[in-house]
Amino acid sequence: MIIVPEHAIAGLVSASDCLEAVEQVFAAMARRSARNFPVIREALGHADALYGFKSGFDRESLALGLKSGGFWPGNISRGLTNHQSTVFLFDADTGACRAVVGGNLLTALRTAAASAISIKHLARPDARVLGMIGAGHQSSFQLRAALAQRHFEKVVGWNLHQPDLARLNAVATELGVPFEAVDLDRLGAEADVIITITSSFDPILMAAQVRPGTHLACMGTDTAGKQEVEPALVAAATVFTDEITQSITLGEAQHAAAQGLLAAAQITELGAVINGTHPGRTSAQEITLFDGTGVGLQDLAVASVAVDRALDKGVAITVDF
Ligand code: NAD
Repeated sequence: MIIVPEHAIAGLVSASDCLEAVEQVFAAMARRSARNFPVIREALGHADALYGFKSGFDRESLALGLKSGGFWPGNISRGLTNHQSTVFLFDADTGACRAVVGGNLLTALRTAAASAISIKHLARPDARVLGMIGAGHQSSFQLRAALAQRHFEKVVGWNLHQPDLARLNAVATELGVPFEAVDLDRLGAEADVIITITSSFDPILMAAQVRPGTHLACMGTDTAGKQEVEPALVAAATVFTDEITQSITLGEAQHAAAQGLLAAAQITELGAVINGTHPGRTSAQEITLFDGTGVGLQDLAVASVAVDRALDKGVAITVDF
């Protein structure tokens, strides 16, 4: 069995590796050769923790396994990150445990890859202003991956707690793109692409604030009850997602679906656009919205890259198991 510890991931896996791996698995999902199994997420009744599993199997790459982990709110005071996850990969031919891989950085990279892939396939080619809503841990990964997808000339950002926008300013400055903190009206009026990556349970961005032609990547809503944009905005957009079942139950589309504003049949898997079986954006005026709910197959895809890289570089830790 191979172990790839958390501290080794940064030296093994790049954002572009993750983009390629996630794009391939989204495509495999839309071809029905990869599927996610039902998600388990439970409150433990201990340490205020939420714990769960996301698992699946890709018959094309033979990635089989699960990501296990969750949210421990008290971890910050212990010097640990609140979100903890580990990926377990199994041999698809024998069921033997193949690898245990640190999943914290990989989660941020695979989530940023998903929104970047949506921008790559759905944003207008002439998109020049990127809007960021949210400035937490995930946001800098999101910004970095998004800036690689178009010739963005400016980043505008909003966060509930404005000082945290320094995190986005630092990434934009490092990549040579000007950054400005703005209110939500200006953000919607200026941005061609908007990423939402917050833990909000109420709509932040309203339909009236978003221009025709905008591409939205709604990435924060991954649990029943969470919400980042007004359901009327979801209903006004052409909606794409990683997985339709998750989109209408725990993703951003859950509220529009519950209110009867959007049917599951109106939502398209991003993999269909990657495969060329759906045209994606069809006009410069259309609002496109990617509901990135986060699927286990993304985790298996990027963890598999980490294992391959560790083997290639001769740094894989192998143990008899
Ligand atoms: P974080 O705790 O570091 O940051 C939280 C962010 O949400 C901050 O910007 C904060 O200001 C904002 N926020 C919190 N409550 C808000 C409110 N009521 N209104 C507006 N903004 C509010 O979290 P993070 O690690 O950056 O993760 C952000 C979100 O992304 C979480 O909800 C997390 O569950 C989700 N997430 C989704 C995926 C996926 O695959 N879709 C993957 C990882 C994380």
